Amino acid sequence: MDLYEYQAKELFAAHDVPTQSGEVVTVAADALAAAQRIGKTVVVKAQVKVGGRGKAGGVKLAETPEEAAEKAEAILGLDIKGHTVGKVLITEASDIEEEYYVSFLLDRANRCFLAMASVEGGVEIEEVAVNNPTALAKVLIDPLNGVDKAKAEEIVATANFPADVADQVADVLVTLWDTFVGEDATLVEVNPLVKDPSGKILALDGKVTLDENAMFRHPDQAALVDNAETDALELKATELGLNYVKLDGEVGIIGNGAGLVMSTLDVVAYAGEEFGGVKPANFLDIGGGASAEVMANGLDVILGDPDVKAVFVNVFGGITSCDAVANGIVQAIELLTSQGVAVTKPLVCRLDGNNADEGRRILDEAEHDIIELVDTMDDAARRVAELANA
Ligand code: GDP
Ligand code: MN
Repeated sequence: MDLYEYQAKELFAAHDVPTQSGEVVTVAADALAAAQRIGKTVVVKAQVKVGGRGKAGGVKLAETPEEAAEKAEAILGLDIKGHTVGKVLITEASDIEEEYYVSFLLDRANRCFLAMASVEGGVEIEEVAVNNPTALAKVLIDPLNGVDKAKAEEIVATANFPADVADQVADVLVTLWDTFVGEDATLVEVNPLVKDPSGKILALDGKVTLDENAMFRHPDQAALVDNAETDALELKATELGLNYVKLDGEVGIIGNGAGLVMSTLDVVAYAGEEFGGVKPANFLDIGGGASAEVMANGLDVILGDPDVKAVFVNVFGGITSCDAVANGIVQAIELLTSQGVAVTKPLVCRLDGNNADEGRRILDEAEHDIIELVDTMDDAARRVAELANA
């Protein structure tokens, strides 16, 4: 789970990473009051879970409370890379003498943690990595040893931090590591970490990704969940207990079991090449017990996606037999129709495995004009791609 900057900074503060405190507001009038309370030049910052806000006009200095209100007014509602700004952070502005970059992340490829640091912060770190790779230090962190002061000094030395800030930056790295481990994060990033004219080091920006699998260990983190930026269908699927992932194609895919669904994505993408590059629109695994209710929920989510032109229901009967799935499909269509959902998109069904013959018979007898039965997975993929392209 990605956090907003202001949430990241709250965690930083809790772990003694130096940062400015601020106030989050959703209307310009509150920005004025917040700036009055701070009583100094403030910076008004768009709170969206995407980088590059500065370049997109989402970070503005304001010298007076009135100006803070104006800037907040301008930033609220702004679209930054597809994210609509609903809140802004009002925080005391800092004078910047130098901008650095530091982060800790889970390095899956090396099965390790990784520290990255650079004295060329403030700009997109991907650019530094490409244009000036030697300016970005990478130091592997042994998970058993973590980052103590000595390790932090090694990172600081590798990145060539100037002597006057080396000790402070090393201390910040230790507190940042405490944040990373203490919160079960998979990423903590500070860009820029700044030096102000008095020589003080401060985290001016913060990006934190928390490991959702570890959230049971952190009851406090539940308060950080904010679904304002979550895709509405993904949210609905999560609430229904379905494994749903939105993709960018046209074929809705429902299957039982993650492995089957993943291979279905592949065959549909392959078959789609022949039909104008049709691709999967989503991934929906209804799991083992495909009851009518689960199937109805699944179909409801898939049909709710306006990108979906045709649906592929690919089921291999195992513990749940195909006749139960077939009944589920028929009842799901009835259920959705009775709820006023327009069930008009073509459904290509392939049933195999336990009791497949009986399952096919049930679908045949239902005589639904949107249901089309196809025997094999490859043929079904071709047919659904053709229908989605029609
Ligand atoms: P990002 O663009 O989404 O990464 O947002 P940042 O929080 O990193 O802000 C972008 C840039 O705005 C920073 O690199 C700074 O140059 C500038 N900025 C942000 N906060 C301040 C501040 O308090 N004072 C000054 N002078 N500049 C700031
Ligand atoms: Mn930044």
